[in-house]
Amino acid sequence: MSLEIEGLSVTYGSGNLTSHAVRNIDLDIGTGERFAVMGPSGSGKSTLLRAIAGLIPIDAGTIAIDGAVMTDTPAHRRPVGLMFQDYALFPHMTVAENVAYGLRMAGVSPDDRTNRSGQLLELVGLDGFQDRNPTTLSGGEQQRVALARTLAPEPSVVLLDEPLGSLDISLRKSLLAETRSTLEAVGATSIYVTHDSAEAFAFCDRLAIIHDGAVIRIGTPHDIWNEPRSEFAARAIGQSNLLPLDVLEPGRPGVAFVPLEAAEVDAGGALMGAVEASKFEGGDHLVTVRLPDGASVLDLRAPQDVGVGSTIRFNIDLRKVIVVSVDEV
Ligand code: ADP
Repeated sequence: MSLEIEGLSVTYGSGNLTSHAVRNIDLDIGTGERFAVMGPSGSGKSTLLRAIAGLIPIDAGTIAIDGAVMTDTPAHRRPVGLMFQDYALFPHMTVAENVAYGLRMAGVSPDDRTNRSGQLLELVGLDGFQDRNPTTLSGGEQQRVALARTLAPEPSVVLLDEPLGSLDISLRKSLLAETRSTLEAVGATSIYVTHDSAEAFAFCDRLAIIHDGAVIRIGTPHDIWNEPRSEFAARAIGQSNLLPLDVLEPGRPGVAFVPLEAAEVDAGGALMGAVEASKFEGGDHLVTVRLPDGASVLDLRAPQDVGVGSTIRFNIDLRKVIVVSVDEV
């Protein structure tokens, strides 16, 4: 149930119109591992998944699942389940028929289909929903049916492309946790594509950050958070409060990520800034200040409201700052 990718490249178009969507990607994802892929829109995330699923031709490289190279294996024979945001359920079929769809295609007998779809519906918490029509289900329930349908043929590798994108935030959180534990229960290896760092962190054991089709950083959320190694990776994982290090340590190159808890408003503080915005956050105020260099902007927590346009002084605890390397991506 492992996935090994070596030197994978995918291009679209030809001649002058060639676009390199995936560039020389290597990935080694272990059995049962939950892996996330993060990157901005257009960075090649969906292309990577489509290549693994065999839905698009690749230019170079190999994809192996459980040790078997997939190059000559057509999409429908790959042990891969793909689930994406707009992967609608079939409205003219019952919930059970939807879940059993892939099994029917694979020639599984009606009795076995009924058993298997029943098991999966139980697993996703929808026991008793067999005969319902999908159009009568809530968004979250539909999503759980879609997950059951993806898992029914027992894929080794499950690919999830922003699967919760169309749901509201509170639902996303609980469904994400459910999706994670369901995948754990079936032991599938999975790749979860998202641009939301909180979702990636809540889901994965390890993640890769891709930029322009190439993997620029790979590791556990903890490792990447503490050592993003580039401003691009830092921003991708949600470290938005970035300052030139020079502001904190004159002459030092690079960038510092300043977590909110690293900065403290202090009338005798060594740093100062002009308040550009201040908003109440239930307890503290979140204050945005512009530093004297004119270019750097920082968010701080202040115990009370500070007037826009006023100047405040503060300190930054260097021990709590994460230094982002000077390498630019
Ligand atoms: P992401 O999933 O990260 O948003 P995609 O994999 O969809 O990124 O796209 C990667 C790049 O490939 C983008 O530049 C996109 O415009 C291009 N692309 C995606 N699909 C096609 C296609 N069918 N034909 C041509 N270019 C495509």
